Amino acid sequence: MMNEEICRDIRQMVSGKVLSGERMSGYTSIGVGGPADVLVFPDGFEELGRLVSFLTARGTPFVTVGNWTNIIVRDGGYRGVVVSLKNLGAVSLREGTAGGPGVYAQAGANLSDLVSLSAEKGFAGLEFCAGIPGSVGGAVKMNAGAYGSEMKDVIQSVTLMDRSGHVRECDRDQLVFHYRRLDIPDEDVILAATFRLSPGQKDEITAKIREIVTKRRGKHPLEYKSAGSIFKNPQEKPAGRIIEDLGLKGMQVGGAKISEKHGNFIINTGTAQAKDVTMLIEIVQQAAYDRTGIRLEPEVVILGEEA
Ligand SMILES: Cc1cc2nc3c(=O)[nH]c(=O)nc-3n(C[C@H](O)[C@H](O)[C@H](O)COP(=O)(O)OP(=O)(O)OC[C@H]3O[C@@H](n4cnc5c(N)ncnc54)[C@H](O)[C@@H]3O)c2cc1C
Repeated sequence: MMNEEICRDIRQMVSGKVLSGERMSGYTSIGVGGPADVLVFPDGFEELGRLVSFLTARGTPFVTVGNWTNIIVRDGGYRGVVVSLKNLGAVSLREGTAGGPGVYAQAGANLSDLVSLSAEKGFAGLEFCAGIPGSVGGAVKMNAGAYGSEMKDVIQSVTLMDRSGHVRECDRDQLVFHYRRLDIPDEDVILAATFRLSPGQKDEITAKIREIVTKRRGKHPLEYKSAGSIFKNPQEKPAGRIIEDLGLKGMQVGGAKISEKHGNFIINTGTAQAKDVTMLIEIVQQAAYDRTGIRLEPEVVILGEEA
């Protein structure tokens, strides 16, 4: 009843799709997750602003998502409104710092589109993002990184919307990035980002991208559904190495399995439920702590209720 009422109200302010009771397993890259009360796809910043301020005034919990590649939704689903920015995906060229090259992207754009556009224009700096399957918003929020670079190294500015729908532009020096996290209030929505790049050689950039994609294919179990690296790398050594040294590769709970190829990936063998994945996470954390004293902290974001 609550869902029908809220869906009706949201449909009056949003022209994009508004779905009720949609199972999140059809959206998360690892293929697990129960239903969300409401899943909405705003079509523009203005209607997103109306939606966010409405939800805040109503006291309804909401969460913003991009490509769902770093999220595990529990089997009971999400009580509240999931706001997908997939319809806000414009990408364009922008001047970077000191007149250098730059690109602007709305939060729902795929990182891969940004990588392709910069390569095509001969702008260097985003090659490290090649093969990261996220959206721009998700990558900025997670301070996504690979091969020694992170979002924080290329961000020039980020446009944010607060929970009342107010928009503000933050320059790089106003933003605090940590390992796999941008420090912003939980309900702030990332609307867009501008990246400062440097002039480069098109063929060199393309060759670097190819090299990175080939490396990733060799290391990651891309033939299975997953959420990427499950744990942050602790200072002592990479999480994947710790898990391998503990002999946990190949361990399976229900349909979730620690990849034989990469210890820090949990793969869905076809029938995994979120509880299988979270149980494996707990088993690994306990084993790592008991046997090495290292506390492994999840990199993935775990949302929602137990079934
Ligand atoms: C095969 C594979 C390989 C991967 N490799 C890497 C890698 O090399 N390096 C790496 O860092 N990550 C990697 N990842 C993880 C993931 O792709 C990145 O973290 C990515 O940047 C997440 O983007 P997303 O759009 O999927 O975010 P989502 O999973 O949709 O969301 C992640 C978090 O960001 C929040 N969020 C999303 N969009 C917004 C927004 N617009 N405003 C506010 N909050 C928002 C969500 O609420 C959630 O907390 C990999 C994942 C997979 C499946």
